[in-house]
Amino acid sequence: MPMINEEYRGLTYPWGRKDAIKVGEPKEVAPGVWWVRFAMPGGLDHINIWLLEDEGGWTVVDTCMKLDSAKDQWEALFSGFMQGKPIVRVICTHLHPDHIGLAGWLCERFDCDVWMTRSEYLNASLLLSYTDEGIPDTALQFYKRAGFTDEMLSTYRRRFGTFGKMSEPLPHSYRRIVDLETINIGSHYWQVVIGQGHSPEHACLYCPGLKLIISGDQILPRITPNVSVFPTEPDGNPLEYWLSSNTRLLDILPEDLLVLPAHQTPFKGARTRLNQIIDGHRQSLARLYDFLATPRTVPECFDVMFNRQISDGEIQFATGETLAHLNYLVQNGNITRSVDEAGLHSYRANPHAHYIHLDEAAA
Ligand SMILES: [Zn+2]
Repeated sequence: MPMINEEYRGLTYPWGRKDAIKVGEPKEVAPGVWWVRFAMPGGLDHINIWLLEDEGGWTVVDTCMKLDSAKDQWEALFSGFMQGKPIVRVICTHLHPDHIGLAGWLCERFDCDVWMTRSEYLNASLLLSYTDEGIPDTALQFYKRAGFTDEMLSTYRRRFGTFGKMSEPLPHSYRRIVDLETINIGSHYWQVVIGQGHSPEHACLYCPGLKLIISGDQILPRITPNVSVFPTEPDGNPLEYWLSSNTRLLDILPEDLLVLPAHQTPFKGARTRLNQIIDGHRQSLARLYDFLATPRTVPECFDVMFNRQISDGEIQFATGETLAHLNYLVQNGNITRSVDEAGLHSYRANPHAHYIHLDEAAA
Protein backbone atom coordinates (compact mmCIF):
# COMPACT_ATOMS: atom_id res chain seq x y z
CA MET A 1 0.00 0.00 0.00
CA PRO A 2 1.51 3.38 -0.93
CA MET A 3 2.00 6.15 1.62
CA ILE A 4 -1.10 8.30 1.81
CA ASN A 5 -0.27 10.66 4.70
CA GLU A 6 -3.78 11.04 6.05
CA GLU A 7 -4.15 14.02 8.42
CA TYR A 8 -6.55 13.75 11.32
CA ARG A 9 -6.79 15.84 14.50
CA GLY A 10 -3.27 17.20 14.29
CA LEU A 11 -1.59 13.83 13.56
CA THR A 12 -0.32 12.46 10.26
CA TYR A 13 -0.86 8.79 9.42
CA PRO A 14 1.64 7.74 6.72
CA TRP A 15 -0.34 4.61 5.87
CA GLY A 16 -3.78 5.98 6.69
CA ARG A 17 -5.81 5.73 9.87
CA LYS A 18 -7.65 2.49 9.21
CA ASP A 19 -7.16 -0.78 7.36
CA ALA A 20 -3.50 0.12 6.82
CA ILE A 21 -2.39 -3.45 7.40
CA LYS A 22 -3.90 -6.92 7.25
CA VAL A 23 -3.47 -9.52 9.97
CA GLY A 24 -0.59 -11.83 8.99
CA GLU A 25 0.95 -9.55 6.34
CA PRO A 26 4.06 -7.79 7.71
CA LYS A 27 4.77 -4.28 6.46
CA GLU A 28 8.18 -2.60 6.57
CA VAL A 29 7.79 0.82 8.25
CA ALA A 30 11.53 1.67 8.31
CA PRO A 31 14.62 -0.24 7.18
CA GLY A 32 14.62 -3.52 9.14
CA VAL A 33 11.53 -2.59 11.20
CA TRP A 34 8.43 -4.66 10.42
CA TRP A 35 4.89 -4.07 11.59
CA VAL A 36 2.81 -7.20 12.17
CA ARG A 37 -0.79 -7.19 13.30
CA PHE A 38 -2.25 -9.96 15.47
CA ALA A 39 -6.01 -10.34 15.87
CA MET A 40 -7.51 -10.32 19.38
CA PRO A 41 -11.06 -10.74 20.69
CA GLY A 42 -12.90 -7.84 22.35
CA GLY A 43 -12.94 -4.11 21.85
CA LEU A 44 -9.22 -3.72 21.20
CA ASP A 45 -9.55 -6.05 18.20
CA HIS A 46 -5.79 -6.38 17.57
CA ILE A 47 -2.27 -5.68 18.78
CA ASN A 48 0.68 -4.44 16.73
CA ILE A 49 3.85 -6.49 17.16
CA TRP A 50 7.24 -5.27 15.91
CA LEU A 51 9.82 -7.52 14.29
CA LEU A 52 13.30 -6.01 14.15
CA GLU A 53 16.03 -7.46 11.94
CA ASP A 54 18.88 -8.33 14.28
CA GLU A 55 22.22 -10.06 14.17
CA GLY A 56 21.56 -13.77 13.80
CA GLY A 57 17.79 -13.48 13.68
CA TRP A 58 14.95 -11.34 14.95
CA THR A 59 14.24 -9.19 17.97
CA VAL A 60 10.54 -9.25 18.76
CA VAL A 61 8.75 -6.45 20.61
CA ASP A 62 5.55 -7.64 22.35
CA THR A 63 3.91 -10.98 21.67
CA CYS A 64 0.06 -10.97 21.69
CA MET A 65 -1.91 -12.83 24.38
CA LYS A 66 -2.21 -16.57 24.92
CA LEU A 67 -4.56 -17.54 22.09
CA ASP A 68 -4.45 -20.58 19.80
CA SER A 69 -5.01 -18.24 16.85
CA ALA A 70 -2.00 -16.13 17.88
CA LYS A 71 0.22 -19.22 18.16
CA ASP A 72 -0.94 -20.25 14.68
CA GLN A 73 -0.06 -16.81 13.39
CA TRP A 74 3.41 -17.02 14.92
CA GLU A 75 3.91 -20.48 13.37
CA ALA A 76 3.05 -19.06 9.95
CA LEU A 77 5.57 -16.23 10.49
CA PHE A 78 8.34 -18.63 11.63
CA SER A 79 8.09 -20.77 8.52
CA GLY A 80 7.17 -17.97 6.13
CA PHE A 81 8.15 -14.34 6.52
CA MET A 82 10.86 -14.91 9.15
CA GLN A 83 12.65 -17.32 6.80
CA GLY A 84 13.38 -19.84 9.51
CA LYS A 85 15.67 -17.36 11.29
CA PRO A 86 15.45 -17.57 15.09
CA ILE A 87 14.11 -15.05 17.56
CA VAL A 88 17.19 -13.87 19.48
CA ARG A 89 15.32 -11.88 22.15
CA VAL A 90 11.80 -10.92 23.17
CA ILE A 91 11.33 -7.40 24.51
CA CYS A 92 8.04 -6.71 26.32
CA THR A 93 6.98 -3.09 26.73
CA HIS A 94 4.84 -3.91 29.79
CA LEU A 95 3.05 -6.61 31.72
CA HIS A 96 -0.43 -6.69 30.17
CA PRO A 97 -1.36 -10.06 28.66
CA ASP A 98 -1.61 -8.79 25.08
CA HIS A 99 2.05 -7.77 25.41
CA ILE A 100 3.58 -10.62 27.47
CA GLY A 101 1.08 -13.44 26.84
CA LEU A 102 3.31 -15.51 24.56
CA ALA A 103 6.73 -14.33 25.80
CA GLY A 104 7.35 -17.51 27.80
CA TRP A 105 6.29 -19.65 24.85
CA LEU A 106 8.55 -17.78 22.39
CA CYS A 107 11.55 -17.76 24.77
CA GLU A 108 11.27 -21.47 25.44
CA ARG A 109 10.98 -22.30 21.76
CA PHE A 110 14.01 -20.21 20.72
CA ASP A 111 15.99 -20.56 23.94
CA CYS A 112 16.28 -16.79 24.27
CA ASP A 113 15.67 -14.25 27.05
CA VAL A 114 12.74 -11.97 27.75
CA TRP A 115 13.87 -8.34 28.20
CA MET A 116 11.67 -6.31 30.55
CA THR A 117 11.88 -3.66 33.23
CA ARG A 118 12.03 -5.02 36.77
CA SER A 119 8.69 -3.66 37.99
CA GLU A 120 6.88 -5.10 34.98
CA TYR A 121 8.52 -8.52 35.39
CA LEU A 122 7.88 -8.75 39.14
CA ASN A 123 4.31 -7.44 38.96
CA ALA A 124 3.50 -9.80 36.11
CA SER A 125 4.79 -12.69 38.22
CA LEU A 126 2.49 -11.62 41.07
CA LEU A 127 -0.56 -11.27 38.82
CA LEU A 128 0.13 -14.61 37.15
CA SER A 129 0.10 -16.26 40.58
CA TYR A 130 -3.53 -15.22 41.24
CA THR A 131 -6.06 -17.94 40.57
CA ASP A 132 -9.86 -18.04 40.86
CA GLU A 133 -9.56 -19.29 44.42
CA GLY A 134 -8.37 -17.08 47.21
CA ILE A 135 -9.62 -13.60 46.33
CA PRO A 136 -8.10 -11.36 49.02
CA ASP A 137 -10.69 -9.79 51.39
CA THR A 138 -8.93 -6.47 50.85
CA ALA A 139 -9.84 -6.61 47.14
CA LEU A 140 -13.53 -7.18 47.89
CA GLN A 141 -13.47 -4.41 50.50
CA PHE A 142 -11.77 -2.05 48.02
CA TYR A 143 -14.55 -2.44 45.43
CA LYS A 144 -17.27 -2.33 48.09
CA ARG A 145 -15.96 1.01 49.30
CA ALA A 146 -15.92 2.16 45.67
CA GLY A 147 -19.63 1.44 45.37
CA PHE A 148 -19.83 -2.06 43.90
CA THR A 149 -23.23 -3.70 44.47
CA ASP A 150 -23.45 -7.35 45.55
CA GLU A 151 -24.12 -8.26 41.93
CA MET A 152 -21.00 -6.41 40.71
CA LEU A 153 -18.96 -8.10 43.43
CA SER A 154 -20.07 -11.53 42.30
CA THR A 155 -19.14 -10.67 38.70
CA TYR A 156 -15.73 -9.56 40.00
CA ARG A 157 -15.40 -12.87 41.90
CA ARG A 158 -16.24 -14.79 38.75
CA ARG A 159 -13.65 -12.97 36.66
CA PHE A 160 -10.86 -12.98 39.23
CA GLY A 161 -7.72 -14.71 37.98
CA THR A 162 -8.33 -14.13 34.27
CA PHE A 163 -4.92 -12.45 33.90
CA GLY A 164 -3.23 -15.82 34.32
CA LYS A 165 -5.51 -17.42 31.76
CA MET A 166 -4.47 -14.91 29.10
CA SER A 167 -0.72 -15.46 29.55
CA GLU A 168 1.69 -18.33 29.38
CA PRO A 169 4.02 -18.43 32.42
CA LEU A 170 6.99 -16.07 32.08
CA PRO A 171 10.52 -17.50 32.06
CA HIS A 172 11.98 -17.86 35.58
CA SER A 173 14.73 -15.38 34.80
CA TYR A 174 14.84 -12.29 32.63
CA ARG A 175 17.15 -9.60 31.26
CA ARG A 176 16.37 -6.39 33.07
CA ILE A 177 16.17 -3.19 31.03
CA VAL A 178 16.42 0.24 32.65
CA ASP A 179 15.47 3.80 31.80
CA LEU A 180 17.73 5.48 29.21
CA GLU A 181 19.71 2.28 28.61
CA THR A 182 20.88 1.89 25.01
CA ILE A 183 20.36 -1.42 23.24
CA ASN A 184 22.02 -2.32 19.97
CA ILE A 185 19.54 -4.03 17.65
CA GLY A 186 20.74 -4.84 14.15
CA SER A 187 22.62 -1.78 12.92
CA HIS A 188 20.84 0.75 15.15
CA TYR A 189 20.88 2.00 18.71
CA TRP A 190 17.60 1.98 20.58
CA GLN A 191 17.08 3.82 23.82
CA VAL A 192 14.76 2.58 26.55
CA VAL A 193 12.44 5.36 27.73
CA ILE A 194 10.25 4.57 30.73
CA GLY A 195 6.69 5.75 31.25
CA GLN A 196 4.51 5.12 34.29
CA GLY A 197 0.84 5.15 35.20
CA HIS A 198 -0.71 2.73 32.72
CA SER A 199 1.59 0.09 34.16
CA PRO A 200 4.36 0.37 36.73
CA GLU A 201 7.45 0.75 34.52
CA HIS A 202 6.44 0.72 30.86
CA ALA A 203 9.31 0.64 28.34
CA CYS A 204 9.19 2.54 25.05
CA LEU A 205 12.00 1.97 22.55
CA TYR A 206 13.29 5.12 20.90
CA CYS A 207 15.54 4.92 17.85
CA PRO A 208 16.89 8.42 17.04
CA GLY A 209 18.74 7.04 13.97
CA LEU A 210 15.51 5.85 12.36
CA LYS A 211 13.48 8.73 13.86
CA LEU A 212 10.91 6.42 15.37
CA ILE A 213 9.66 5.14 18.71
CA ILE A 214 7.96 1.87 19.57
CA SER A 215 5.55 3.33 22.08
CA GLY A 216 3.63 0.29 23.41
CA ASP A 217 0.52 1.61 25.17
CA GLN A 218 2.23 4.82 26.37
CA ILE A 219 1.40 6.86 23.26
CA LEU A 220 -1.64 5.69 21.30
CA PRO A 221 -3.11 7.90 18.57
CA ARG A 222 -6.84 8.03 19.33
CA ILE A 223 -7.46 6.14 22.57
CA THR A 224 -5.86 6.63 25.95
CA PRO A 225 -4.88 3.54 27.90
CA ASN A 226 -6.46 2.73 31.22
CA VAL A 227 -4.84 4.51 34.17
CA SER A 228 -6.26 2.75 37.20
CA VAL A 229 -6.05 2.34 40.93
CA PHE A 230 -6.03 -1.34 41.93
CA PRO A 231 -6.82 -3.08 45.25
CA THR A 232 -3.15 -3.92 45.85
CA GLU A 233 -2.44 -0.17 46.29
CA PRO A 234 -5.75 1.54 47.16
CA ASP A 235 -4.16 4.94 47.85
CA GLY A 236 -1.94 4.81 44.77
CA ASN A 237 -1.69 7.89 42.55
CA PRO A 238 -1.01 6.45 39.08
CA LEU A 239 -2.40 9.56 37.33
CA GLU A 240 0.38 11.66 38.87
CA TYR A 241 2.96 9.25 37.37
CA TRP A 242 1.09 9.12 34.07
CA LEU A 243 1.02 12.92 33.72
CA SER A 244 4.58 13.46 34.91
CA SER A 245 6.05 10.71 32.72
CA ASN A 246 4.21 12.01 29.65
CA THR A 247 5.46 15.51 30.45
CA ARG A 248 8.97 14.07 30.60
CA LEU A 249 8.48 12.41 27.21
CA LEU A 250 7.67 15.88 25.87
CA ASP A 251 11.17 16.93 26.96
CA ILE A 252 12.82 13.96 25.26
CA LEU A 253 10.95 13.34 22.02
CA PRO A 254 10.84 15.48 18.86
CA GLU A 255 7.53 16.14 17.10
CA ASP A 256 8.34 14.55 13.74
CA LEU A 257 9.01 11.04 15.10
CA LEU A 258 7.22 8.10 13.58
CA VAL A 259 5.30 6.64 16.54
CA LEU A 260 4.71 2.89 16.38
CA PRO A 261 1.86 2.21 18.84
CA ALA A 262 0.66 -1.17 20.13
CA HIS A 263 -2.89 -0.43 18.97
CA GLN A 264 -4.32 1.45 15.96
CA THR A 265 -1.86 2.70 13.32
CA PRO A 266 1.57 4.42 13.16
CA PHE A 267 1.53 8.19 13.10
CA LYS A 268 3.67 11.32 13.24
CA GLY A 269 3.08 14.07 15.80
CA ALA A 270 4.46 12.64 19.07
CA ARG A 271 4.36 15.89 21.01
CA THR A 272 0.95 16.91 19.70
CA ARG A 273 -0.45 13.58 20.86
CA LEU A 274 1.26 13.76 24.28
CA ASN A 275 -0.25 17.20 24.81
CA GLN A 276 -3.70 15.92 23.81
CA ILE A 277 -3.39 13.06 26.30
CA ILE A 278 -2.29 15.35 29.13
CA ASP A 279 -5.02 17.93 28.34
CA GLY A 280 -7.69 15.21 28.26
CA HIS A 281 -6.89 14.17 31.84
CA ARG A 282 -6.67 17.79 33.02
CA GLN A 283 -10.14 18.41 31.61
CA SER A 284 -11.49 15.32 33.40
CA LEU A 285 -9.92 16.54 36.65
CA ALA A 286 -11.50 19.97 36.26
CA ARG A 287 -14.97 18.54 35.49
CA LEU A 288 -14.69 16.15 38.42
CA TYR A 289 -13.66 18.89 40.81
CA ASP A 290 -16.67 21.04 39.83
CA PHE A 291 -19.02 18.05 40.12
CA LEU A 292 -17.81 17.35 43.66
CA ALA A 293 -19.29 20.56 45.06
CA THR A 294 -21.77 18.00 46.44
CA PRO A 295 -20.42 14.72 47.92
CA ARG A 296 -20.48 11.86 45.39
CA THR A 297 -19.63 8.17 45.30
CA VAL A 298 -17.38 6.66 42.61
CA PRO A 299 -20.20 5.36 40.34
CA GLU A 300 -21.92 8.76 40.56
CA CYS A 301 -18.82 10.24 38.89
CA PHE A 302 -18.98 7.96 35.83
CA ASP A 303 -21.11 10.34 33.71
CA VAL A 304 -18.76 13.23 34.30
CA MET A 305 -15.70 11.08 33.67
CA PHE A 306 -16.79 9.15 30.60
CA ASN A 307 -19.88 10.92 29.25
CA ARG A 308 -21.42 7.61 28.16
CA GLN A 309 -23.11 4.54 29.58
CA ILE A 310 -20.65 2.14 31.22
CA SER A 311 -21.41 -1.50 30.45
CA ASP A 312 -21.20 -4.28 33.07
CA GLY A 313 -17.96 -5.49 31.52
CA GLU A 314 -16.36 -2.05 31.92
CA ILE A 315 -17.28 -1.39 35.56
CA GLN A 316 -13.96 -2.51 37.00
CA PHE A 317 -11.84 -0.39 34.66
CA ALA A 318 -14.20 2.59 34.96
CA THR A 319 -13.94 2.35 38.75
CA GLY A 320 -10.14 2.11 38.66
CA GLU A 321 -9.82 5.05 36.28
CA THR A 322 -12.26 7.23 38.23
CA LEU A 323 -10.36 6.42 41.43
CA ALA A 324 -7.10 7.41 39.71
CA HIS A 325 -8.55 10.89 39.13
CA LEU A 326 -10.10 11.07 42.62
CA ASN A 327 -6.89 9.96 44.35
CA TYR A 328 -4.99 12.58 42.36
CA LEU A 329 -7.33 15.32 43.59
CA VAL A 330 -7.30 13.97 47.17
CA GLN A 331 -3.50 13.91 47.26
CA ASN A 332 -3.33 17.43 45.86
CA GLY A 333 -5.65 18.65 48.62
CA ASN A 334 -8.44 19.64 46.20
CA ILE A 335 -11.01 17.16 47.50
CA THR A 336 -11.50 15.05 50.61
CA ARG A 337 -12.72 11.49 51.02
CA SER A 338 -15.08 10.31 53.75
CA VAL A 339 -16.55 6.97 54.66
CA ASP A 340 -20.13 6.27 55.82
CA GLU A 341 -21.35 3.64 58.32
CA ALA A 342 -21.76 1.06 55.57
CA GLY A 343 -18.14 1.59 54.53
CA LEU A 344 -18.95 3.46 51.32
CA HIS A 345 -16.49 6.15 50.23
CA SER A 346 -17.67 9.53 49.02
CA TYR A 347 -15.70 12.51 47.76
CA ARG A 348 -16.25 16.23 48.09
CA ALA A 349 -14.45 19.36 46.92
CA ASN A 350 -12.46 20.96 49.68
CA PRO A 351 -13.92 24.45 50.06
CA HIS A 352 -10.56 25.75 51.22
CA ALA A 353 -8.69 24.51 48.16
CA HIS A 354 -8.31 26.40 44.95
CA TYR A 355 -8.35 24.22 41.88
CA ILE A 356 -6.78 25.87 38.85
CA HIS A 357 -9.46 25.60 36.21
CA LEU A 358 -8.46 25.22 32.59
CA ASP A 359 -9.98 28.50 31.55
CA GLU A 360 -8.22 30.30 34.39
CA ALA A 361 -4.93 28.61 33.51
CA ALA A 362 -5.32 29.69 29.89
CA ALA A 363 -6.27 33.27 30.78
ZN1 LIG B 1 -1.39 -2.12 28.37
